[in-house]
Amino acid sequence: MHRSGPVVMAWNVFKFCTALRAFGSLMILLVLGIVGVSYYAVVVANYGPALGAGGIDSLLALAVLILFHVLLGLLLWSYFSVVFTDPGSVPPNWKPTIDEEIGENAPLTNLDFSNHILNLQQGHLAETGNPTIRYCRKCNQLKPPRCHHCSVCGRCVLKMDHHCVWVVNCVGALNYKFFLLFLFYTFLETTLVTLSLFPHFIAFFKDVEIPGTPGTLATTFLTFVLNLAFALSVLGFLIMHVSLVAKNTTTIEAYEKKTTPRWKYDLGRKKNFEQVFGADKRYWFIPLYSEEDLRRMPALQGLEYPTKPDLDAQ
Ligand SMILES: [Zn+2]
Ligand SMILES: [Zn+2]
Repeated sequence: MHRSGPVVMAWNVFKFCTALRAFGSLMILLVLGIVGVSYYAVVVANYGPALGAGGIDSLLALAVLILFHVLLGLLLWSYFSVVFTDPGSVPPNWKPTIDEEIGENAPLTNLDFSNHILNLQQGHLAETGNPTIRYCRKCNQLKPPRCHHCSVCGRCVLKMDHHCVWVVNCVGALNYKFFLLFLFYTFLETTLVTLSLFPHFIAFFKDVEIPGTPGTLATTFLTFVLNLAFALSVLGFLIMHVSLVAKNTTTIEAYEKKTTPRWKYDLGRKKNFEQVFGADKRYWFIPLYSEEDLRRMPALQGLEYPTKPDLDAQ
């Protein structure tokens, strides 16, 4: 992990998430509250009334209002998709496939397998041996590849990225794309709000008469500062996640530094991207997957992940 500016900032956001854990579902109300205040400042107080100004100002106001509503729709759609999508749990009695599929790469008989499970259950951490089958002693079950136990959710989560209170959910295999879209649209929307309120913000420091009640002026000021802060924080977070997706790594895997010297899930930038966003371009910018991608790509189910040797063999 490179310790550049935005990445450090992103880690701070991550810690902030952890610190706010106790607030639980109140976070949804907080997110909606921020959206509500921004809506009031942009639509009700400033650009709605500007529609009637005439000329170029009306056109500009119309453009801002259309963009604001489109981005808001996509943002809320992505947000509630992260909140309400199960990040992925381990099916009961899950077992790794130990047949001819991996037979050549990892020779393993049923007896080896049983002994291995027994060792894991007795607490001998045999993670270094071959095969690398991991066991969760809290859930008392085997762990599929890239699965991690979340102490907040109290269960194992498939390809767990992190637990974030902003979405009151774990971010894992089945909702990571939605989370990334939520970050993306939050960045675009907060940037739009910041830019569109910038002239109004500047006006506070000029010696001119500003129209509006003290209430709307205060809301405009607060919304500008709030959205600027969010745009910068989310940008840091977004840059970090784009670099993680490009290397097919989760936040946890990057944090554990398991990915050096060579990460077996790294299939090349384009394929790594498809492992999260699906291969169908029409679905890249919305929190959905095509039926065909869901059928064709095991990574989207969260239990199996193609590795570099798999692809080379094809
Ligand atoms: Zn567990
Ligand atoms: Zn969790």
